[in-house]
Amino acid sequence: MLELVIVSGKGGTGKTSLVGSLAVLAKKNVIVDCDVDAADLYLLTTPSLKETHDFIGSSLATIDNDTCSACGVCTSYCRFDAIHHAPIDGWERFWVDRLACEGCGVCAHFCPEQAINFSEIVTGQWFLSDTKYGPLVHAHLGVAQTNSGKLVSHLRQKAKDIALEKNYDLILIDGPPGIGCPVISTITGASYILIVTEPSLSAFHDLERLLELAEHFRVPAGLVINKYDINTDLTGKIETFAKERQIKIVGTIPFDVAVTQAQLQGISVVEFTGKGAGEHIRTLWNNLEHELQALPGRNKTQIQSLDTL
Ligand code: SF4
Ligand code: SF4
Repeated sequence: MLELVIVSGKGGTGKTSLVGSLAVLAKKNVIVDCDVDAADLYLLTTPSLKETHDFIGSSLATIDNDTCSACGVCTSYCRFDAIHHAPIDGWERFWVDRLACEGCGVCAHFCPEQAINFSEIVTGQWFLSDTKYGPLVHAHLGVAQTNSGKLVSHLRQKAKDIALEKNYDLILIDGPPGIGCPVISTITGASYILIVTEPSLSAFHDLERLLELAEHFRVPAGLVINKYDINTDLTGKIETFAKERQIKIVGTIPFDVAVTQAQLQGISVVEFTGKGAGEHIRTLWNNLEHELQALPGRNKTQIQSLDTL
């Protein structure tokens, strides 16, 4: 089973649009939207919702003031300044700021009165939908909730379970932006990372940071230059950089108004047009298939399986 992750560093590089097209071209895959803070892949895949599940992503400390002796030990141990106190009705009362509490449990461990309780809290929801390109696993993290890395890991595991059950060989993952915890949760142990960049200085900078991450976690990586023709000087520098770092450029995509037109119609670029950006994405997919087939550990059976997708 292959896990192909598409990442881009910052948003707006055309990553999700590309994932939508790859989902079409792969024909038989499990699709995962790991951008749990701003999931939007469903806009391109017109899913039919099958299952909704609560996601318990954290715990919350609460203080029982009937048991609390107001010793103040918990406040000194909480590294998130989540425990507050004030005199109320002549008694020093302690309480936990639920937005600041990270659920680490340290306060409860050191409380001499066992006055601190924990309850699991629902931090989001995850969904399983059907699309004409394959099952879609996606999620929504609640407002002001953290721990999106844990939710990402959960989505990836669900996708693996489905792929095993349905005997699908490819999991296509739309990665979150940035290089923080959710991205690390998305790429750790993945088969291949496809980095989408564009000829802009900020995207170039993100590319360097993402490659460092890929190298650190020893995940093979390839590169796509989107809108390569809007700044050919910078595209040339990205190509030189890729050559120096021995990173394969799997494809380039020109600026094409068809991309926006496809989005407006809620379909992928390759469904919208076979020319321009659509043609380049098809070439990119053919190159990508060869990259995936050449990965270490791909045996003949797996290669044949990918060929017949
Ligand atoms: S669980 Fe951790 S973060 Fe929450 S109040 Fe206790 S020590 Fe602070
Ligand atoms: S450590 Fe326990 S007893 Fe002391 S103030 Fe905190 S909750 Fe109250």
